[in-house]
Amino acid sequence: LIAFLLYLFYLVPPIGQLVQGGVQLQQGLAAMKRIKEIEELPAEPVSVAAPRDGRPAGVRFEDVVFRYGDDRPLVHDGVSFEVPPGGLTALVGPSGAGKSTVFGLLERFYDHQSGTILVDGRDIRDWPLAELRAALGYVEQDAPVLAGTLRENLLFAAKDATEEELRAAIARTRLDDLVARLPEGLETPVGHRGVLLSGGERQRVAIARALLRKPRLLLLDEATSQLDAVNELRLREVVAEVARETTVLVIAHRLSTVTGADRIVVMEGGGVRAVGTHDELVGGDELYRELAATQFLVSG
Ligand code: ATP
Repeated sequence: LIAFLLYLFYLVPPIGQLVQGGVQLQQGLAAMKRIKEIEELPAEPVSVAAPRDGRPAGVRFEDVVFRYGDDRPLVHDGVSFEVPPGGLTALVGPSGAGKSTVFGLLERFYDHQSGTILVDGRDIRDWPLAELRAALGYVEQDAPVLAGTLRENLLFAAKDATEEELRAAIARTRLDDLVARLPEGLETPVGHRGVLLSGGERQRVAIARALLRKPRLLLLDEATSQLDAVNELRLREVVAEVARETTVLVIAHRLSTVTGADRIVVMEGGGVRAVGTHDELVGGDELYRELAATQFLVSG
């Protein structure tokens, strides 16, 4: 018996440690899973508690010069353009023209080397960073769906939004049909562990998520994925509607977006080569005509 008790005495602590180790391992795996889920989150600034001024903000680039590093070529070599508050402005141009860089500079992911960038008439270097980012809604290209329910996806960066605001954002982004179609409505898990959403639905979910943060300027890098006719139409309606309430700056990949834009900024070779409406540019800018004929999938 003594031998048995001694055996237990020596054996039990290791068993206890093993059990504890197992729990720790499980906790570690759960944490890794959470980190993976966090990694899947879009690079969106988190909402701040400061009271919001919801007025649409204008943007102005004045002779902006930017390169990603001292040994890198200039991406912006004197970029100037103006986006008045409200309405839809589209950025177009060949690949590498520096369109996404405009968004990166506005968000201050990078700092320009010279020139001035104004948001709402104020130099972005004078804005407190959190305030600037709270004023901007950024919808990235082919935005990912987060792990979780559709409700969690929409409220990710606006936890304090009311049910009414949530419903309004769903209506504005034409997601009512999706909510009605999902087995558990808003509580349905979506993404790779739930119901898969189409490219058009994903982009509209991302827009709704950004709108719930009440941005003063929405930066939209349009999805390049092909959309069916219904989704194409819905996206166009959504962008037009949002542009009635806030400023929308979109990197456009679709002809339907540029034809509906109030103004189009054509970027090329480190600068802005033309600004105008679709009709003006088709008549007056050769590169735009070419882009419209190729990039936007229409004949010239
Ligand atoms: P696309 O339509 O292909 O997205 P774009 O007009 O948006 O092109 P940018 O993405 O702004 O162009 O890129 C402009 C230039 O800067 C390209 O030559 C690109 O390789 C380079 N570039 C972009 N991002 C970075 C980065 N993070 N680090 C270094 N160089 C970069």
